[in-house]
Amino acid sequence: MKVKSPLEVYQLLPKTNCGECGEPTCMAFASKLINRDAKLEDCIPLVKEDEEGYNKLAELLAPEVKEITIGVGERAVKIGGDDVLYRHQLTFFNPTALFYDVWDTMDMDELKERVSEIENFRKFYVGEFLTLDGIAIRSVSGDPEKFKETVKEVVEITDLPLVLCSFDPSVLKAGMEVASDRNPLIYGANKENWKEVLELVMKYDVPVTLCSFGDLNLLKSMAITFRGAGVEKLVLDPGTFPSGEKLRETFHNFLKLRRGAILEGQKEIAYPLMGVPATAWLVYEDELSASYWEAVLASLMIVKYGDILILHGTQPHSLLAEVHIRETIYTDPRTPVQVEAGIREIGEPDENSPVFVTTNFALTYYTVESDLSSNGIDCYLAVVNTDGIGVEAAVAGGQLTAQKIKETLDEFDFSKLSHRTVVIPGLAARVQGELEDLTGLKVFVGPQDSGRIPGWMEKNWPPEK
Ligand code: SF4
Repeated sequence: MKVKSPLEVYQLLPKTNCGECGEPTCMAFASKLINRDAKLEDCIPLVKEDEEGYNKLAELLAPEVKEITIGVGERAVKIGGDDVLYRHQLTFFNPTALFYDVWDTMDMDELKERVSEIENFRKFYVGEFLTLDGIAIRSVSGDPEKFKETVKEVVEITDLPLVLCSFDPSVLKAGMEVASDRNPLIYGANKENWKEVLELVMKYDVPVTLCSFGDLNLLKSMAITFRGAGVEKLVLDPGTFPSGEKLRETFHNFLKLRRGAILEGQKEIAYPLMGVPATAWLVYEDELSASYWEAVLASLMIVKYGDILILHGTQPHSLLAEVHIRETIYTDPRTPVQVEAGIREIGEPDENSPVFVTTNFALTYYTVESDLSSNGIDCYLAVVNTDGIGVEAAVAGGQLTAQKIKETLDEFDFSKLSHRTVVIPGLAARVQGELEDLTGLKVFVGPQDSGRIPGWMEKNWPPEK
């Protein structure tokens, strides 16, 4: 994106504040465009009356790295589309897409079971479910008919986005015959097959991965050729070498490509990058080492700068690491992850139940809520609005004060309890006295870690009268 501030965008809008875009002013619309919360085509006057101005602004607003869509409908995933090298500069927009493999030598029951495992994976984390994005279908047999049969079966049982994997154009062609309407990503074109793959991609207008393992000049040259033929939906795979000196080279290649795209404006390499951490399974013989190193590679590539990864292992110790690091990296640093403040009931509290205090930082809230509910502690939870900041930082920064806790507790009817006590987090101990003065309540200091609440309860609850 070549424009960096709402003011720059505003200068190029009609400046009539007509409201047709749904925003009260052109400046408000400009702010949304910068944050990618609005689409330029929603400015109807610009679209209808100033084609040149529209095209100019569209060009200026386009992300440095091209955004590519794989799949169709609600399950389609977007990859790429980034403008910055470091997330604190703006944010990373499209989370790294995680595709897990199936292969055409699996028997049908095994295939169905694995597709179902990938499709149904869910991990609740900070208020939402982490899921996987798609399925990479590998041709292991080399037989076009066998591949076609496998692709057909997968298409019938899931609407997840697909990657069709083979370097044999006849195999890819067979897969496309049954999956072309799903906008799959073709994997891939290399220096041997690029002509046939280019033809296939042009025929079906689908995205394609260009592969040149360890040779960035060749990768760039292929990208120029495909662009010259009018094919712009490109993904680049510079090769994933899972161990030794080549692993270092892999990492450097990802850095070089992304820096070239964003800092040097090299349009021919400004495309999403693909990593294949599944290559760990080619060099490590035992399952534990392979899955461990696959997760290490995936983590490395999620941080810098893999936009789509092909993975194999679905063991919880690797899967959970992969989805968690992705969630962490792609959380918008400008927006604290928070939940609504107020009083919650956990379980079935009664007049003898304790009242705990916590903050509305989502990670804190869900950790405390989970520790309480999983231990069967029926209680009330007073969630204080700390602007999404955790307990220790909020106490230090003044977002969690005795006054703010009091304001939250004012919503609660203590007359329904047999006691007048609250329990504040151990890390907020310093507000205890002031909170007692402000509320007239007895304030207990709980443990610093909510995982220790059950032990704390055994010693301190019910309170002495
Ligand atoms: S539609 Fe265009 S001209 Fe009208 S307020 Fe929105 S941005 Fe401004």
